[in-house]
Amino acid sequence: MKSNRIPFHKMEAIMILRGSCHCRTIRFSLDSPTPYPYQACYCSICCKTAGGGGYAINLGGDSSSLEVEGEEILSVYRARIQDPDDPEEKISPARRNFCRHCGSALWVYDPRWPELVHPSPRPSTRPCRSHQRR
Ligand SMILES: [Zn+2]
Repeated sequence: MKSNRIPFHKMEAIMILRGSCHCRTIRFSLDSPTPYPYQACYCSICCKTAGGGGYAINLGGDSSSLEVEGEEILSVYRARIQDPDDPEEKISPARRNFCRHCGSALWVYDPRWPELVHPSPRPSTRPCRSHQRR
């Protein structure tokens, strides 16, 4: 059966998301046809690495449009995962990108879905008013 789903990269980009880490060494932009949170992720990895509210919120973006400044400061975390039915521990293919200077969680990229990138919404918006840099 053929899917009627529009391929992600063919959706019309309705917003350019721009973001940075807290220390602003890493800045990025990408096109997003879905610039709204589509998922509150409660997995243990997202809760620990990016879950300020006890969960992480993911946005969807077009990975082919991702542009990064300060890429040399970018670090990637790939979590160790274990399936309850498989005693062998594995390394997750998901790549959680973060700033190695300030620790800000920036986006998740998973090569199993290469057309997508999932920026954290907080780095994609302005800094918190009480902590804005002058
Ligand atoms: Zn930083």
